[in-house]
Formats: sequence, C-alpha cells, structure tokens
Amino acid sequence: MGKEVELGKTGIRVHPIGLGANKISEADEATHTEYGGKIIQTAIEHGMNFIDTAFMYGKGESEEIIGKTLKDNFLRNDAVIATKGAHVFQGNSIILNNHPDFLTQAVDDSLRRLQTDYIDLYYIHFPDEKTPKYEAVGALQRLKEAGKIRAIGVSNFTQEQLEEANEDGYVDVVQDEYNLIERANEETLFPYCQKNNISFVPYFPFASGLLAGTYDKNYTLKENQKNKPQFQEDVFYDHVENVDKLRALAHKHKVEIAHVVLAFYLTKKPIDTVIPGARNGQQVMDNLRAAKVDLNAYELELIEQIFPIN
Ligand code: NAP
Repeated sequence: MGKEVELGKTGIRVHPIGLGANKISEADEATHTEYGGKIIQTAIEHGMNFIDTAFMYGKGESEEIIGKTLKDNFLRNDAVIATKGAHVFQGNSIILNNHPDFLTQAVDDSLRRLQTDYIDLYYIHFPDEKTPKYEAVGALQRLKEAGKIRAIGVSNFTQEQLEEANEDGYVDVVQDEYNLIERANEETLFPYCQKNNISFVPYFPFASGLLAGTYDKNYTLKENQKNKPQFQEDVFYDHVENVDKLRALAHKHKVEIAHVVLAFYLTKKPIDTVIPGARNGQQVMDNLRAAKVDLNAYELELIEQIFPIN
C-alpha cells in the first residue's frame, strides 16, 4: 500500500491512487463492468480511499451506489468522497447552474444520495455563464463553515476563471483534463495551482484507456470510440506507437505501462493523487501497483521526450 498524502492544504489524507467512479453502476457483462458496490469495497479494503464521483455519473446513480455501499459496510470513515454538481436536466437538454442557491441545494441532494452528513470535497463541475465565480465559491465556503463539506474544488475552469473563483483564496482543489497526450495544463493551471497551494487532480489519466497500454497497431477502432479526439484514425496509431515505447521502462520496473503512466503524473508538483476510472476490482487492484513505481530523472526525461507538450 502506498503512503497516504495530504490533498493540497486541506489536511485531508488520501492514497496517491484514487478511484474515478464514473463507471460505478449496475453490472454489465458486455463491458466487463462489475457491480459498483463491489468495486468500492475492493478499493477501500486495499487502502484506495479517495473516490471521485459526481451527480452527472448516471444522474446520481454512482453517488447512490457509493452511499449505500459505505453505509451497509460501515465504511464511511474509511473513505474520502469527492463529488460535483452544476448540471440540470431540462427536457432533452442539460444546462449549467452555479448560482449559490442551486449549489446549496445540490450539496444537500448529494448528501442524501451519499447517505452521509459531510462531503469531503465538493467541486463545481463546470462553470456557468452567469454566476460570478467568486460568488459560487463563496456559497461553497459557507457550506464548509456549516460542516457540510470539508474542501472546495472547481473543475473545467480556465486559468482566468480559476483566478476569479479563487479571489478570496477559498479554492482547495482543481480538477481538469491532464494526461501524457494532453499536457497543456502543465503550462497554464499547474503554475497557478502550485503558487496557491491548490492540489490538481488530473482527469482522463489514461485518455479513456489509450494510455493503459491495452491497444496495439492492429486494433480496429469502434464507431463509439471515434467521437474522442485521441481516438481519431489520423492520430490514434501514432499514440499507440508512442505508448508502446514505454514498454521497456515498464518491464524494467516489473509493472505494466499503465503504472508507469500514473507514476509519472505523481511526480508533477501540484498533483497529490490520481483518479483512474475502473470497471472492476481487477483494474482497481492493478492500478494500485503504480504507487510503488519510483521513476528516476533519466526515465522522466525519456517520457517527456516521447510525449512532448503540444
Ligand atoms: P481514464 O481514467 O482515462 O480511463 C479509464 C479506462 O481505462 C477504464 O475504463 C479502462 O478502460 C481503462 N483502465 C483502467 N484501469 C486499467 C488497467 N489497470 N488496465 C487496463 N485498462 C485500464 O478515463 P475516465 O474513467 O473517463 O476518467 C477517470 C475519472 O476522471 C472518471 O472516473 C471521473 O471520476 C473523472 N472525470 C472527470 C471529469 C470532469 O469533468 N471533472 C471528466 C471526465 C472524467 P476499459 O473501459 O477499456 O476497460
């Protein structure tokens, strides 16, 4: 088990390998998806305590399964729960709302689904167009003072939006896309986070599985994969070739490519923990192996060269 680390300046201690819970749902044999409750139990039993969910993940289903599992198994105090809100379903469309009244209600709704009286980390999932960012974060600060949440996060905010959101210094955690293929945030959000002691949680750490090393050059892309930028035919096979260049490094450390990739992220200063998504307990257990990989300066440089910031 890897040693727990502090999440930024929050005082909250988490395992460096967390669990992205957007696939926490009912079981689905066709996609090797195990019942989410079993995945949560496996994670916590093995010390993976940081669980990242959101209202949007199954319109509350991920939160409900997490809540039920933790309650039924008396595990609430063993888990650090991060959840998010901002989305509103209106007929066939989804709108975003960061109004203080909306966020206050959204936190209460998440508390009910999670069957708990506190949320460790609550993020504004996406910025809306209307609400001043510092007002939205101010509402979360009041919920923090009331003991309903322990830390404040924002997700999918640009650097400018983050600066406005953090006007009063209330932001504890930022979550945004970051992986070896998409490293742009190293030059934008990372320096701001580091300067302000904000923890950065990267999402899509495996670029939806591409960086987990499971694809090869003979793989035929499925129709439902082709809507993701990194799965476009003109770039996908180059990515696969680059991922394959990490194989020797993984072999040297007696792990798989996925573990080298996660270990690389953990060497970046504002990152304390990562949240790879997992469909089953096997992937959870497997991802934990990354906590033991210690990459040296030469190896880090090699990875930077294979996947330059573009
Ligand atoms: P990801 O972590 O980049 O990829 C997850 C996929 O990688 C899994 O579904 C699985 O692919 C594969 N995988 C995981 N562990 C593996 C292993 N040990 N060996 C082989 N393959 C493995 O993408 P994600 O799940 O979409 O994102 C991670 C988390 O980030 C989410 O759960 C969510 O919590 C968060 N997120 C947040 C936002 C936001 O707006 N804040 C947006 C997106 C995601 P298969 O499906 O092929 O098995």
